[in-house]
Amino acid sequence: MFVNMRKFQIIPPHLESSMAFAFSTLVNAISATLQPQEKILCFHCNDKMRKKNALIASFNGASHPVCCHGCLAVLNTIVSNGLTEQYLQAKANEAVVTL
Ligand SMILES: [Zn+2]
Repeated sequence: MFVNMRKFQIIPPHLESSMAFAFSTLVNAISATLQPQEKILCFHCNDKMRKKNALIASFNGASHPVCCHGCLAVLNTIVSNGLTEQYLQAKANEAVVTL
């Protein structure tokens, strides 16, 4: 026996493809939100942050991720006052103490 399933559908056939597209877009958006975010540490304060939210500071000839404009301002101030060596030395000493 042949049953025409088309007449039992709630969604009119002309809307089927656009609704399928809208649904797949929604699913993609939700799955992107649920992806685990890669976390990294701020170069200055060592706070964890999402990699995508990091600001980039140019410091001592390299680019470093920082968590906020405050940490960025600190690094810029250190550079503009010629305190890079002292900062790196203090950071190295701090790393030894915290280990
Ligand atoms: Zn920071």
